[in-house]
Amino acid sequence: MRRYRDSEERKQEETLRKKMGLDERACVGRYGYCNAMVFLDEIDHEPKKIIEAAPHDWPKDDPRWPKVCEYCGRAFKDEDKWQVFQQALYQRHTGEIIPLEAAQPGDMWDAWWYPQQWKTAPDGLCLVLELPGGHEWVIDRASDSGAHWTRTGVPPAITVTPSVLVPNGYHGWLRNGVLIDA
Ligand SMILES: [Zn+2]
Repeated sequence: MRRYRDSEERKQEETLRKKMGLDERACVGRYGYCNAMVFLDEIDHEPKKIIEAAPHDWPKDDPRWPKVCEYCGRAFKDEDKWQVFQQALYQRHTGEIIPLEAAQPGDMWDAWWYPQQWKTAPDGLCLVLELPGGHEWVIDRASDSGAHWTRTGVPPAITVTPSVLVPNGYHGWLRNGVLIDA
């Protein structure tokens, strides 16, 4: 697997999103909390700007609002969050235009919006790699054990040491931009 996209598009995707609170970590899905989004529109947006929730109130009686979590099927309640959510679109190496939510294993991007203290590499990037199983590996941030990974090479052809190990999940190596199962 070897993919890379660093070109953030001048387009954003706008969705109607229902989600539970960040502290309700009870979902098997990508975010750890229940979440679902329905596509609304594509809108113009300046690249590399912080994405902010839309200021307008969308009518709650719109039938398109998600009713259940798209990962575990749990029904949303009225007090769960209602969001008109915007997210940047990216171009994959295949030319396909996608939001980061649709990233495939091996996709890599610069998460420039993450905190400055995570950007520990000399080039100042905050590289993230999508791992099999839907886990985002923040390469330039310290691991759960407090240690840092070391990367060499120019993105996307980077080599990272040591290996990445997701608890009860994926274990592998990134060598010359290629993810290799351990
Ligand atoms: Zn869920």
